[in-house]
Amino acid sequence: MTQYPVIQLYIDGTWRQTAESLPVINPADETTIGKTPIATRADLDDALAAAERGFKLWSATSPADRAAVIMRAAAIMRERQDEIARAITLEHGKPFEQARLEVIRGCEFFEWDAGEGLRTYGRVIPSKPGIRYVVVHQPIGTVAAFSPWNFPLSQPCRKVAGALAAGCSIILKAAEETPAGAVHIARALHDAGLPAGVMNLVFGIPSEISEYLIPHQQTRLVAFTGSTAVGKHLTEIAARHMKPVLMELGGHAPVIVCEDANPVASGRLSAVRKARNAGQVCTSPTRFFVHESIYKPFTDAFVERAKAVIVGNGFDPATEMGPLANHRRIEALETLVADARQKGARVLTGGERIQNRGYFFPVTVLADVPDDARAMREEPFGPLALINPVSSLDEAIEKANSLPFGLAAYAFTDSAFNVDQLVQRVEAGNLSINTLEASVPETPFGGVKESGYGREGGAEGLSHYTVVKNVSHQMR
Ligand code: NAD
Repeated sequence: MTQYPVIQLYIDGTWRQTAESLPVINPADETTIGKTPIATRADLDDALAAAERGFKLWSATSPADRAAVIMRAAAIMRERQDEIARAITLEHGKPFEQARLEVIRGCEFFEWDAGEGLRTYGRVIPSKPGIRYVVVHQPIGTVAAFSPWNFPLSQPCRKVAGALAAGCSIILKAAEETPAGAVHIARALHDAGLPAGVMNLVFGIPSEISEYLIPHQQTRLVAFTGSTAVGKHLTEIAARHMKPVLMELGGHAPVIVCEDANPVASGRLSAVRKARNAGQVCTSPTRFFVHESIYKPFTDAFVERAKAVIVGNGFDPATEMGPLANHRRIEALETLVADARQKGARVLTGGERIQNRGYFFPVTVLADVPDDARAMREEPFGPLALINPVSSLDEAIEKANSLPFGLAAYAFTDSAFNVDQLVQRVEAGNLSINTLEASVPETPFGGVKESGYGREGGAEGLSHYTVVKNVSHQMR
C-alpha cells in the first residue's frame, strides 16, 4: 500500500541518481517518503545533448509511428493506474479515486494528442500556373517544459503529449515535491519503445534549471504551468533569447449565479467542485457572484454541503478531500482568511487548520467579502470560496472581469439572453455554463490576460509545438 517509487533523472533513455537530493513529504502525515534528485549542470548538458539527438530521430519518424508509441505508453499507464494513483496520493494527498481519475485524464491527453499528430495538415494556396505555394507545419525543436505539483501526472502529460505528438523532443522539469507522476510517464514511454533522448526528465533547483535551459540554443519552446509571477519571469528570460512560450498561469475563477438558476442544486455542486483537489486547481471556482434574490438559499446550500465534505487521508475510501499539498498553502490560506475577516467578511464555515499534523484545511466559505480583501484579488489556490450578492448580470460581469486573471469562468443560467451576454463579455479562455468542468482533452485550454497565452488540447494544442514553413515552388 505504501510503496513509493525511487525517483531518478531520466536522460538519454537511462535512469540516473545524483549526489544531492530533496525530501518528498507525505502531506497527510508529514513523513518523508522519498528523495528527489537534484540535477547538476553536467546532467542538464547531457539532457540537452540527448534532446538534440532525440529531435533529429523523432522529427524524422512518421506521425503514425510516433502516435503508436504515445498510444502504447497511454495503454501502459492505464494498466498501471492503481500503482501510479497510490504514488500520487502518497506525495500529494488527494483521495485515491481522484488520483486514479487523474491518471485516466493524463492518458486521455496522450491519446488525444497522438491523434492530432496525424492531422497536422498543411495547405496548398491557389496560384497562377507554374508556381505552387505549399504551407507545411514542422516540429519546432526541443521543448523545455516545467510542470507544477497540483496534478503530478496529468499536468506533465499535457506537455509531453503535445511535444511528442508534434515530433519534438522534450526536457521536462517536473515538480520536485510531487515527482512520481513524471517518473511514471517516463517509465511508460520507455517501456512503449520511445527512442533514447526524445523525452528527458530532470528535477533540481527550479530557477537554476530554467535559467540554464531557456537561453540554451538547443531550446526552441518554453512551456510552463504555474503561477503568474513565475510565468512572467520565465517569459522575460525567453524574450531575451527570442524563444516562444506557452504559458498556462494562475486564475481566480468567477461563478455568476443568475436570478433564474436553481440555488440549491448550484450551491451544492459548487461546494463539491470547490473541494476537488482541495481547491488547488487553476480553474477552481472561487469568486461567487450570486443574484441577490437567491443569495440566501444558494449560500445555505453551499455551506451545508461544504460542512459535510469529509476531509482525511486520501487512502480512506470515505475521504472526499485530502490535505493541502504543502505547508505554504496552509500559510497562504490562513493569511487570506485573517485579512478578509479583519476587513469585514463573514466566515460561514471553516477558516482554521484541522489538527496540527498533516496539512489539513477545511472547505472555507466567506460571505460578503469586501473588494479590498486580498482574497478577492490573490488566487487562494486552496479550498476557499468567496460568496457575494449582486443586483444584476451587468454588475456580475463587471466584477468577474475586474481582475487581471482570465482563465476559467462559470455561470448558472437557462436564459438564452444571459448566455449570449456571458459569451460576448466575460474575459476568460474557458467559459462553462451550468457545469463546473472547465476543459476536456478535445477542447482548447488556456487563459487570457495574465492567465497566460497559448492553448493546450483541442485542435489548437499542437500548433505551439510546430512552426509554419511556406514553400514557393516554381515548376520548370
Ligand atoms: P511558486 O510560484 O513558487 O511555484 C509555482 C511553480 O513554478 C512550481 O511548480 C515551481 O517549481 C515552479 N517554479 C518556481 N520558480 C521557478 C523558476 N524560477 N523556474 C522554473 N520553475 C519555477 O509557488 P508554489 O507555492 O509552488 O505554488 C503556489 C502558486 O502557484 C499558486 O498560488 C498558484 O497560483 C500557482 N500554481 C498554479 C498552477 C496551475 O495549474 N496554473 C499549479 C501549481 C501552482
